[in-house]
Amino acid sequence: MDLYEYQARELFKKHGVPVLDASVVSDPQAARAAAELLGGRVVVKAQVKTGGRGKAGGVKLADGPEDAARLSRSILGMDIKGHTVGKVMLAQTADIADEFYVSYLLDRTSRTWLAMASREGGMDIEEVAATKPEALAKVPIDPAEGVTEAKAAEIAEAGGLPAETVPALVALWDVFTKEDALLVEVNPLVRTGDGQIIAIDGKVSLDDNARFRHTEHGDYDDPAEGDALEAKARAKGLNYVKLDGTVGIIGNGAGLVMSTLDVVAHYGADPANFLDIGGGASAQVMADGLDVILGDPDVSSVFVNVFGGITACDAVANGIVQALETVELTKPLVVRLDGNNAELGRSILDAAANPLVTQLDTMDGAAQRAAEPARS
Ligand code: GDP
Ligand code: MN
Repeated sequence: MDLYEYQARELFKKHGVPVLDASVVSDPQAARAAAELLGGRVVVKAQVKTGGRGKAGGVKLADGPEDAARLSRSILGMDIKGHTVGKVMLAQTADIADEFYVSYLLDRTSRTWLAMASREGGMDIEEVAATKPEALAKVPIDPAEGVTEAKAAEIAEAGGLPAETVPALVALWDVFTKEDALLVEVNPLVRTGDGQIIAIDGKVSLDDNARFRHTEHGDYDDPAEGDALEAKARAKGLNYVKLDGTVGIIGNGAGLVMSTLDVVAHYGADPANFLDIGGGASAQVMADGLDVILGDPDVSSVFVNVFGGITACDAVANGIVQALETVELTKPLVVRLDGNNAELGRSILDAAANPLVTQLDTMDGAAQRAAEPARS
């Protein structure tokens, strides 16, 4: 999950990366008041999850509270690379003497953590990498050692950053590891006229797989963003991905679900989602899954494709029956049970006799049936 700049800055502050005071507002009146509190001269910055805001006109210096209100009015609502600006951050201004670039990230190619640093800060770093690769230092980080003062000094030297940046580089490593991030980036990290080091811009991307360690990161969820169904599924702990089609899919095991999507597509319909209920498919998980899928207005049928293993088909069938007691079935549900205790599972569903539930014994036959509403 990518964070907004103002959220990244909160994490910087928490771990000792130097930042200037700032506040976030969503209307010009609040901007005027905030600018007054911050001392008048402020920088007004569009809060969108994309870079290059400066070039797009989303970062402006205000010479006082009135000006801050005026600039906020013009930046709020602006479209920056397809992102509508709903909030602006007002920050105290820095007297910038030098601009540097620094980031820590997971380098999947070399299977390690990587530090990147450059004297060419403030610019588009992709452009620096393409046109002046020698100006962008890349230093692998031993995960067991991390960024100690000595390591930070090595990174600073490689990138041509002054030694005063070392404490900020060490603190930034704390943000990276303690918050379980996959990327932290400061562009620019500046040196002011009087020699202070300050992070002017920040980007943080958190590792969603480490979310269970950070309940406090729930505050960063953005209901206005992404798909509401995915947010609902995430809240229920489901492994769900929204797709564009009309056939809702529930299966156990990522491989089986992937092939279920293929078979449905083979029969001329498009899957509405990926949902893997995993090994221990309880009634609750089945109910949650059906609830999310039936809440998708694009769905015209649902296909439950389960191969019973450790979780036997009778448990899955009981799960479906219990789920249908709490979730009202509004679309045809096609079920294919195979594997461990398939016969027993099928008889449980037959006994429940829900008119909208159809059972078929093969994956092919069931996929074909589930695809029918989409094709008619
Ligand atoms: P980005 O364009 O999305 O990367 O947004 P940044 O936060 O990096 O801002 C773009 C540029 O605006 C920076 O590289 C700075 O040159 C400039 N800028 C931002 N804040 C200040 C400030 O407080 N004072 C001055 N003089 N320039 C600033
Ligand atoms: Mn920047």
